[in-house]
Amino acid sequence: MWSTAMKRIVRLGLPLVVVIILVMSFVSARSMSDMENYSRLINYVGIVRGASQRVIKLETNNRPDDALIDYVSGIMEELLSGEGEYGLKRTVYKEFNDDLEKLGSRWDLIKEEISDVREGAGTEKLLNSSEELFDIANDTVFTIEEYSGMRSAALARQLIITGVLCFLISLFVIIYYVREYFKLSRKTEKLADMAGRDKLTGALTTERFYEEAQKAIDREPDARIAVLYIDFENFKYVNDVFGYEVGDAILQKYVEVVKASLRNGELLSRTMADRFVLLRYYEDKQRLLEEQQELDRRFVNLDVLPDKHSITVACGFCCREDVIEQLDIHGLINRANYAQKTIKSRPDEHYAFYNDSIRQKLFREVYLTDRMQEGLDNREFRVYLQPKVSPYDGMIKGAEALIRWITTDGKFITPGEFVPLFEKNHSIKKLDTYVFENVCRLMQEWHEKGQTVVPVSVNVSKLTFYTADFIKEYREIKERYGIPDHMLEIEFTETVACENEKYMTQIVKELHENGFLCSMDDFGTGYSSLGMLKNLDIDILKLDALFFRESKDLKKEQIIVKEVLHMICQLNIKAVAEGIETDSQVAFLKECGCDFIQGYYYYRPMPAEEFEAELKRQYGQKR
Ligand code: C2E
Ligand code: MG
Ligand code: MG
Repeated sequence: MWSTAMKRIVRLGLPLVVVIILVMSFVSARSMSDMENYSRLINYVGIVRGASQRVIKLETNNRPDDALIDYVSGIMEELLSGEGEYGLKRTVYKEFNDDLEKLGSRWDLIKEEISDVREGAGTEKLLNSSEELFDIANDTVFTIEEYSGMRSAALARQLIITGVLCFLISLFVIIYYVREYFKLSRKTEKLADMAGRDKLTGALTTERFYEEAQKAIDREPDARIAVLYIDFENFKYVNDVFGYEVGDAILQKYVEVVKASLRNGELLSRTMADRFVLLRYYEDKQRLLEEQQELDRRFVNLDVLPDKHSITVACGFCCREDVIEQLDIHGLINRANYAQKTIKSRPDEHYAFYNDSIRQKLFREVYLTDRMQEGLDNREFRVYLQPKVSPYDGMIKGAEALIRWITTDGKFITPGEFVPLFEKNHSIKKLDTYVFENVCRLMQEWHEKGQTVVPVSVNVSKLTFYTADFIKEYREIKERYGIPDHMLEIEFTETVACENEKYMTQIVKELHENGFLCSMDDFGTGYSSLGMLKNLDIDILKLDALFFRESKDLKKEQIIVKEVLHMICQLNIKAVAEGIETDSQVAFLKECGCDFIQGYYYYRPMPAEEFEAELKRQYGQKR
């Protein structure tokens, strides 16, 4: 309301000033011309005063001057009428006009008395009248002078008032616009700031963080700068169990707590869901760690968390001084992220600094990633097979294909080390297909040699499932090598199944239609949802080795395994127990009716030739 009124005033202000100036210019021009008229009037009344004295003097000295008389009469006439050759205008000032009337009638009288003197009358009357005219003319001059003074004072006052008024209006308008300008630039700044902030938490966006952090790094090459990469563990669980609102509130609170701790120049960004990066200055690494620990402790104890064990914070630090290479902000974040990832495998650790051993691991990753293609070209990847054995007769009933990387210099690299790297650079599909084709080739060879052929399972990574045409491609390979239906099993992990159950239900259906068996790997390591078992039409369930690690409560563990096995038997799903190493485990699994056992107890993964030999030993040659 107030601001609308202000705007209206400002909008009127400038035109108003222009109008006032125009009006004042007009008024001033008129006043100037009036002033000029007044001085002319003063002048001519003065002439009447002087000339009339001279007329009388000449008359009394017998030297009459009619021309002078006419001249005075002409002026007198123009003074009274306001029209004539001298440009004398009448004024509206009554006193002056009265004086002029008096002066005019006195002059008329003098003219009559001159006639009388010429006809022989005495000059005394004329001389008296002349003195009276002189006085009247004097008064008239004073009157008009006074009036002119009054008018010019009024004009000056008007000009001053108008000037002040215009100045005030202009000042008001200028102040208004200056304020508007600052308001606008503050607004623009605020908008620009908002654009660089995450909507949910108000932390910086990744782009803005990169930009500002890079500036800080370049600006202060010697400052002790650390980049922190923070990730909440169990955040997905919080979202799933308590809902997204609680999840959002937790993220907002964390940002609030961290923001309050930021010192000058320090930055905080939310890179994605529950991940944060921080740029901090520090004097001492231990102090930096303690401060972060204290902050996280405070956060975990806040009311916003459903319970203080629902979330743990995992933070990786990368201090610039610990990095040998010249790195930009991306490099520092990557290293902090890397340090953070090392925490995940150690449940009691929540903080890790980037150090030499991490650097070596990182270099190893870079080296392996660089060598991937060369390894594939040189056929350094070999398919090993680990038998799946029936515990009831000790016979091999199947196998799992497990990839091995054996470098040209004989070094053995396990899939745990390189599979995640293949996943990271999206070449896992190539590797999975390579293994699959090799398995098909082996099975074809066994068949052609008249060897017993057992079903073989292959691991398929999550990314492979999401590549278009993967089933079509696998079917083509299967057909090319003439592998019958139900001899090839596709293994996918429980986590993959869980992440997109609907999609996986469709995939399982299509795999079945194309003659593949479906196997759920690592059951028991993730969510292990029973609902998922109900919806996904799998053929085989692989109980993870975790189930069989000697736990504190063996009895409980055995009850669970027994019941799970009982349940999947009812569901017509075959069970494979993985990672079985001991007599007692085998005895127990037999008791529970587990179909197959895959573990070191029977066999370790072995090269294909060894596996073939073992098959031959058990089953003999068919022909
Ligand atoms: P996985 O599919 O769960 O394979 C079983 C792992 O358990 C294998 O490890 C195997 O050597 C190991 N194992 C079997 N029995 C025992 C035992 O009694 N004790 C112990 N301690 N371990 C046992 P490996 O070969 O290192 O493979 C690790 C993981 O790498 C596999 O887990 C699988 O997820 C992945 N992987 C292997 N080959 C491929 C592949 O061709 N493609 C993809 N995408 N992943 C693969
Ligand atoms: Mg597997
Ligand atoms: Mg497994």
